[in-house]
Amino acid sequence: MTDVVASLVERSIAGVTGSSKKAFQLGADIVELRLDHMSLLSLDREVLRHIRAAVKGPAIATLRSAREGGRSKLSKSKRAEALEEILESGFEYVDLELANDSRLLQELRGRRLRAKTIASAHFFKPASRDTVEHRLREACSAADFGKVAMPCEHAGQALMLARIGLRTSAANHRFILIGMGDQGQLTRVCARQIGASMAYACLPGRPAAPGQLEISVQSSLASHDNIVLGLVGHPVSHSVSKPMQEAALKKAGLTGTYMHLDIPEGEFDRDALVTLNLLGVSGLNITIPHKLRAFELCDKLGASATATGAVNTVKFDGESIVGENTDLHGLSLMIERKIGTCKGTRAVIVGAGGAARAAAKALSGIGASVTVAARDFRKASALAREFGMDSIDLRALAKRSEAFDILVNCTPLGTSGRHARSRLPSGVFKGNPVFFDLVYNPPVTSNMKEARRRGAKAYGGLEMLVHQGAESFRIWTGKEPDVQVMLRAARRALA
Ligand code: NAP
Repeated sequence: MTDVVASLVERSIAGVTGSSKKAFQLGADIVELRLDHMSLLSLDREVLRHIRAAVKGPAIATLRSAREGGRSKLSKSKRAEALEEILESGFEYVDLELANDSRLLQELRGRRLRAKTIASAHFFKPASRDTVEHRLREACSAADFGKVAMPCEHAGQALMLARIGLRTSAANHRFILIGMGDQGQLTRVCARQIGASMAYACLPGRPAAPGQLEISVQSSLASHDNIVLGLVGHPVSHSVSKPMQEAALKKAGLTGTYMHLDIPEGEFDRDALVTLNLLGVSGLNITIPHKLRAFELCDKLGASATATGAVNTVKFDGESIVGENTDLHGLSLMIERKIGTCKGTRAVIVGAGGAARAAAKALSGIGASVTVAARDFRKASALAREFGMDSIDLRALAKRSEAFDILVNCTPLGTSGRHARSRLPSGVFKGNPVFFDLVYNPPVTSNMKEARRRGAKAYGGLEMLVHQGAESFRIWTGKEPDVQVMLRAARRALA
């Protein structure tokens, strides 16, 4: 059982009364009072009793020191005195710091206390697996609950924390393990599956720590029919899949969460997929640069994955990891709707990664004769050979006098962020081919502007995104999504 703890950061007792009432109404099981944030003249027994009485439910008292990221600047001796008072003031739980309060933690051993103790430790930058695991074990043996928080720069570190949590849970310890920041959210979303005793959450719009989920979201995750989905890629910050898929879940009457998991290349391996499965994740989208690796890592491959040699959708089916490719469906639908069949038309694909494979299959499927162009000619020719197509170096394509009818950009060039200013060489637009840009953020890319400036038709990747996402949704849930709802949610997120 994982209790939802509402972290309350209030300055006054009146503030505590109002916020704690609201927190319990929203579904919190316990509230945490950050005493270090309150403007109090003293922390004597009388004041503490007033504060405790303001909360009509179980409460944790936390006096976070500046050394551990809080606001309390009490000297060591004053801190020890204050904590002794707090321990006697009727709080169900008291947070003590593993490093600063080590002496008190030792003294409390064997003493009968009304309050349960939490020994907490905070890292200010990502630490190694051994360091975190050692600190958590120390914390667990120092108090009733051990608590460790660590910032996560990428979701690979959250996966590491999750694995530590699973092992700690198997050893029957009571613990709280928090990955801070957006990329640590996996530890919050999957707190129950990790085996954590508590998950800290916030009042709407008032996070007390980076990455905290709102109380109602955190408590809805406890429900067993909650669906957890995610996107694995690097980077993922440009993606609008989260609002799009969450809108589809809501419209279909399902409760669920979709996470953006930024996992760098070296960290995406079989262990990552197995851990996500153990954490109860139902399915994943896979994006740049992991689609080919995902193809190798799956236990079973659907027809779409086998046809393309790339996986953009994973479904966890018991212990089995099943790969599919819904880019193929999304792109085929978009091309068919815009230009119908292409018998005899000459198409060129720029890029030789996962999406290029779906484009190769989609274009050859509707009768086009296809050439693959890439900055790395070896990759272009390997892909072209596999699909029985021609290949060309991207620089040579830009200089070539012969024109194509269709041009498909399967590179990230033009994507907002790191690639925003980079463009395809202008020579590729020779002869004004119909241009399909798989990039959808921004909705009108610099490459689309260039194609249109020359008088060509140009389409962005949003329509494909929505249709590949809808197909993934069908695979994960077995339900029909509302595609218009998904489109509107994606547009809103891009606006
Ligand atoms: P990927 O597997 O990593 O492949 C990326 C391709 O782009 C590789 O061939 C890579 O070449 C090439 N590339 C990267 N940077 C380049 C540069 N500066 N100049 C020239 N080529 C470059 O990624 P993917 O999954 O195929 O995705 C490709 C793009 O399509 C991404 O922007 C993705 O967001 C978009 N996409 C959109 C949708 C949609 O629904 N609209 C669906 C799928 C993909 P190297 O191998 O030499 O690095």
